[in-house]
Amino acid sequence: MRDVAAKRAVVVGAGFGGIALAIRLQRAGIQTTLVEKRDKPGGRAYVWHEHGFTFDAGPTVITDPDCLTDLFEGTGKTLADYVELLPVDPFYRLCWEDGAAFDYNDDQVAMERQIAAFNPADVAGYDRFHKYSEDLYQEGYLRLGAVPFQSFWSMIKAAPELARLESWNSVHAMVARYIQDPHLRQAFSFHTLLVGGDPFKTSSVYALIHALERRGGVWFARGGTGALIAGLVKGFEDLGGRVLLNAPVERIEISDGRATGVVLEDGQAISADMVASNADVVATYDRLLGDTPRGKAKAKSLKSKRFSMSLFVLHFGLSTPQPQLAHHTICFGARYRELIAEIFGGPTLPEDFSLYLHNPCATDPGMAPEGMSSHYVLSPVPHLGAADIDWEVQGPLYREKILDYLEERYIPNLRRDLVTTRIYTPFDFRDDLNAHLGSAFSLEPILTQSAWFRPHNRDDVIDNLYIVGAGTHPGAGIPGVVGSAKATAGLMLEQAGLAGAKA
Ligand SMILES: Cc1cc2nc3c(=O)[nH]c(=O)nc-3n(C[C@H](O)[C@H](O)[C@H](O)COP(=O)(O)OP(=O)(O)OC[C@H]3O[C@@H](n4cnc5c(N)ncnc54)[C@H](O)[C@@H]3O)c2cc1C
Repeated sequence: MRDVAAKRAVVVGAGFGGIALAIRLQRAGIQTTLVEKRDKPGGRAYVWHEHGFTFDAGPTVITDPDCLTDLFEGTGKTLADYVELLPVDPFYRLCWEDGAAFDYNDDQVAMERQIAAFNPADVAGYDRFHKYSEDLYQEGYLRLGAVPFQSFWSMIKAAPELARLESWNSVHAMVARYIQDPHLRQAFSFHTLLVGGDPFKTSSVYALIHALERRGGVWFARGGTGALIAGLVKGFEDLGGRVLLNAPVERIEISDGRATGVVLEDGQAISADMVASNADVVATYDRLLGDTPRGKAKAKSLKSKRFSMSLFVLHFGLSTPQPQLAHHTICFGARYRELIAEIFGGPTLPEDFSLYLHNPCATDPGMAPEGMSSHYVLSPVPHLGAADIDWEVQGPLYREKILDYLEERYIPNLRRDLVTTRIYTPFDFRDDLNAHLGSAFSLEPILTQSAWFRPHNRDDVIDNLYIVGAGTHPGAGIPGVVGSAKATAGLMLEQAGLAGAKA
């Protein structure tokens, strides 16, 4: 580590992106303070412990573990010193209302056998799709996933290869080019929903997620994603970093066009040479910089963008194990394209749903008291700007509807065995996380809001102010926000005169 004692940084917000950035800065020798408004770190990856059940709030599908391992390179520690990652198999079980099911993993033979059962002609088509996904992975993830697009020119230079791969087409359009069966078209296009994208509108670059999963597998942290967050934060503190919890930032201080630190709601001031925000990108400009001309102008332009859908999340604990459930189940409803259009466009809460059902005890029984099981189920729903829904009223009704559906199709005796429930609605995304319109994934990942078109990792006007997390390039999802931390750290180290240090 080099001695740059004069350099101090503040990172606002302890989501995956904020924590990953803080580790990268601290390990390079920049004295870093991570400031989080809530009582625990994690952001969307918050955790509740209730009646002996562990309920992860958000991310449960851990892909590309290398992006996390990489955070500790050169520190003398490894990720394994802090948390154990367990492989998940199958990656997902996909279920349809007509009784069809598909276990998705990296076993080529098993995949081809299942694809042939849907439609023999799709085996060759899947092979071509897999190769296409590999090309996107090389270009869109390995080469460009963690580079900052500060200039339009940097994006144009990247364009030829992405143009060859027809990145203007949607993920679904490209999947449909290779695969005929309607179930399989859903099976290979739904992934964009996991990062807040409509498969019919999201750039086909996101089809790289398939290759990402096939190469790196799907993982789960022992003790849950909350344990992964706790491990990363401990790693940051072991490097000498400082974490402040219950410390909402009221504003970022700007003097003579430069960020000089932050002021907390309790009046405490923390000065710094560089400030990075992992808070919601609209809230960063609108509230934390709302008194400045730059904050006002940028917030106004951001509010005119398209935002990802929100989510309704229902956690529940059962007094019985559920061995019939895979760790991750996608429960497709009867409609696909039309349902997704209503989720992204509103104007009301759709009558039907497609769900993601989490059964972590399949991999780690310690997530619930012995002989019991802990779960969550999520339903993508319109954000607060697309549908005017009073979630105080609708939330409990929607919970009952989802519980009925699960009992009928997936978990017999669910109501008999129910120990506890908790719900998390778009209102909670708005109020707990300051998420604009209660969006679960920030800006929608459409082509015209990607790369250079997404908020930049370094502000264009205040040159020692940085942004990290789902609202920046490359976007939401753990690999995305951890990639954004790498891009942002590179710029910050350059500014600190540490360009040679490992970002
Ligand atoms: C239910 C759900 C399930 C998901 N599942 C997956 C999955 O399986 N796999 C996957 O890869 N991704 C998943 N995602 C996406 C992924 O969780 C997110 O994209 C990612 O965690 C966002 O990280 P972030 O760095 O942008 O920060 P966030 O998690 O948004 O954290 C930002 C932090 O900033 C804090 N903050 C805000 N304002 C202030 C302030 N004024 N002062 C101080 N602190 C402030 C917030 O409290 C929060 O802790 C899921 C998301 C959700 C919501």
